[in-house]
Amino acid sequence: MLDAMPPTLNLALSKGRIFDEALPLLAAVDIVPSEDLESSRKLIISTNRPDLHLVIVRASDVPTYVAHGAADVGVAGKDVLLEQGGEGLYQPLDLEIARCRMAVATKRGFDWAGTVQRGARIRVATKYVKTAREHFGAKGMHVDLIKLYGSMELAPLAGLADAIVDLVSSGNTLKANDLVVVEDIVPISARLIVNPASLKLKRESVQPLLDALREAVAARRGSVS
Ligand code: ATP
Ligand code: MG
Repeated sequence: MLDAMPPTLNLALSKGRIFDEALPLLAAVDIVPSEDLESSRKLIISTNRPDLHLVIVRASDVPTYVAHGAADVGVAGKDVLLEQGGEGLYQPLDLEIARCRMAVATKRGFDWAGTVQRGARIRVATKYVKTAREHFGAKGMHVDLIKLYGSMELAPLAGLADAIVDLVSSGNTLKANDLVVVEDIVPISARLIVNPASLKLKRESVQPLLDALREAVAARRGSVS
């Protein structure tokens, strides 16, 4: 009977860090891509589960695909969700992968504390304009925000900005460019996001996936220090 077939689920995620770290979690819930993502140019990847496909999109596009229902579920960085507002999405689960923090950094030797104290106008370059505006606004600081799309580290070196707001994990990229963190903003990790209509209409498929992932995250937490 046709109605015995589970509904098809599309899971959106980005190549690179998120995919690399999501892969073991997916394997733990018995989802294995049917081809090697690094060598494949396909944007829709089938898996060992006939009812589940991976949709490969740009990291900042994941919430858009899920909010519109083009993907039922997705994996998105908290940085992206903060910046986009996360409207029209359930965020039921912190996957605890792609961990880093959002921070303010300047060139080593820049007198950040003094500049802030003087109330001098500060130029801040970032991809995360909304998050940065909220952070500095909450502190009552006036900053001129400069929107960039990549290589934020270059901005203070080239004299485009006094500071940057960017993601930091090991700090090696900052160090290599003679930059230092002067303020932490928020810890970041990747979240499972779900389209609300999919949760209702495809609950029989979405809920077990969510439950299994929640269990896998907890199990991993137990085994990783
Ligand atoms: P691109 O680098 O191709 O311009 P992108 O920056 O959107 O695109 P990634 O660098 O793969 O793509 O980042 C995707 C997500 O991975 C980010 O949204 C963030 O959640 C997470 N991420 C980024 N940088 C780090 C980091 N240094 N450590 C841990 N997670 C990170
Ligand atoms: Mg990047």
